[in-house]
Amino acid sequence: MTRRPQCIRWDDYFMGTAILAGKRQKDSNSMLQIGSCIVSPDGKIVVGVGHHTVIDGFDSSCPDYWCHAISNAMVWANRHNLNDCILYTVTYPCNKCAQLIIQSRMSHVHYMNKWQCDGSETTYSQKLLSEAGISCREYLPMKDIEIDFRRMDPALFDGSSALSKL
Ligand SMILES: [Zn+2]
Repeated sequence: MTRRPQCIRWDDYFMGTAILAGKRQKDSNSMLQIGSCIVSPDGKIVVGVGHHTVIDGFDSSCPDYWCHAISNAMVWANRHNLNDCILYTVTYPCNKCAQLIIQSRMSHVHYMNKWQCDGSETTYSQKLLSEAGISCREYLPMKDIEIDFRRMDPALFDGSSALSKL
């Protein structure tokens, strides 16, 4: 098999999924358009995605009424057991999300930005995650991923034309 040059790494795929999920945040009362993606322990299957939302029925003007992308990804996950799952998150977990990560028994956190998901700069969650033995790694993008939905080449999806090239 010859590897396509445009094939992206798993790391890029999952962090890209987290970034895309964040784009669902529509309320202008929060500047945070960030997302999270939870991946199966074998590192190949997305089991949950989440973005910042206001608690249903609450006013978005109060920061206390916002659910962070990490907690939403956990609540919306398509499996109950998150043991040893891997979290990809655009921002670093805040204290509350770090507690949830520990309680859910996820094993790895890959973050893109050292700012925490509540916008603070404190590092108490680093201490929590470290003491719980959860590995945290900064995600380092290797290349840009660009998706222009309006300019997708139809030939990419046309099996007959692909077969005719064989
Ligand atoms: Zn949080």
